Amino acid sequence: MPERSDRYSVVGGGVGGLVVARRLAAAGARVTVFEASDHLGGTVARHEVAGLGLDAAAESFAVRGGTVAALLGELGLQDDIVAPAPGPAWLQPVAGDAVPLPATALLGIPADPLADDVVRVVGHEAAARAVELDARPVGALPDTLGALVRERLGDGVLDRLVAPVVHGVHSQHPDELPVTRAHPGLADAVRAAGSLSGAVVRLRAAAPPGAAVAGIRGGVHRVVPALADDLGRLGGEVRLTARVDDPSRLEGTVIIAAPGIAAPAAPGRRIDLVTLVVEQDELDAAPRGTGLLVAAGAPVGARALTHATAKWAWLREAAAGRHVVRLSYDQTPGDPVAAAVADAETLLGVRLPVVVGAAHVWWMRPAAASTPSGDVVVVGETVAGSGLAGIVAHAERTAADLLAR
Ligand SMILES: Cc1cc2nc3c(=O)[nH]c(=O)nc-3n(C[C@H](O)[C@H](O)[C@H](O)COP(=O)(O)OP(=O)(O)OC[C@H]3O[C@@H](n4cnc5c(N)ncnc54)[C@H](O)[C@@H]3O)c2cc1C
Repeated sequence: MPERSDRYSVVGGGVGGLVVARRLAAAGARVTVFEASDHLGGTVARHEVAGLGLDAAAESFAVRGGTVAALLGELGLQDDIVAPAPGPAWLQPVAGDAVPLPATALLGIPADPLADDVVRVVGHEAAARAVELDARPVGALPDTLGALVRERLGDGVLDRLVAPVVHGVHSQHPDELPVTRAHPGLADAVRAAGSLSGAVVRLRAAAPPGAAVAGIRGGVHRVVPALADDLGRLGGEVRLTARVDDPSRLEGTVIIAAPGIAAPAAPGRRIDLVTLVVEQDELDAAPRGTGLLVAAGAPVGARALTHATAKWAWLREAAAGRHVVRLSYDQTPGDPVAAAVADAETLLGVRLPVVVGAAHVWWMRPAAASTPSGDVVVVGETVAGSGLAGIVAHAERTAADLLAR
């Protein structure tokens, strides 16, 4: 039998589990990944719609910290990292036509509430109120982003601007999102700047130029076989259709990389996605840029729309004149494809009479886990938050800590 410290069992073969397993295997440890389903990758998945290979969930990664790019470099995918098309996302307000999101903002929090592109979304009254509120001295800061924005900039800015953007990025209302998860440097920046708008100015000035996210030519799902192949090359073992209900029976150090095992998770949230492949030349002009976020109360059920062929040049080429749009829903529509076509027409402002392919998938997003008790090692979304950048960085750190033990 190998030494216990040399042996690791990883429960869950999503990106979190695969990254930690690969790093441990690279150091010579004996690693087995147990995956409940018949395939690896979890929420990073591929599907085909009208013959096009598309991401079925995650389709980009945050470039901050360079962690994902470094991993992709190790996997030989560095030349396939691609930037999305430039330009602001758009917002579908409660009433009226879609508008481009304010250019100078962070998670929708404006650097200047009186800027024209902010006033157009929130209205004069709410903009003036935001300036008045944000001029007051900064006291103890609230815990959630929603409470912070409400306190410093008012309900109008929160509801009409910040909530749709935060929902689009985190699939959560700002009232549920801790300030530190929204942006780790935000609270300090508010204290240093003496205002929330001033904090946004500072953080934007400190951010590197260029897009905040990147993708992979061919789809982000390509990271999964690349990780799995490398894990195999390094001697790691993968067992599919191997659901683990009692991790204490596994060999060696157990790492939990699946939601709901380490600590009883609160019920997750379901997200439905409908992808449409359409023929419509008017979409060549990308009338809503790379896509829109939708304010609650707007006259569509969708919460966001991505115009994927406008966002990713590789996909535009692959689609050969067709267009790919993807809509996300918090509430499953009765007839998802029909609802998505109707919503896409409203949001994009064009008719879509020719739908050549459609797919409806849904995902459960885990709630954040309470910190697991005792010695349990956990990686993945429940502890690192949603998003590949944070999950990869956390999994790499966890592997390094384990190896240093
Ligand atoms: C619709 C959607 C779009 C997204 N878009 C983006 C994006 O563009 N950019 C971004 O960075 N992030 C995005 N995310 C978030 C990102 O995909 C996730 O945060 C990340 O993939 C989670 O990885 P994970 O390894 O923690 O968990 P998961 O991917 O959930 O993997 C967990 C794995 O554990 C397995 N498992 C569960 N229970 C057991 C068990 N008992 N035994 C064994 N195995 C088990 C599951 O089958 C699964 O394979 C998106 C998420 C969704 C839902």
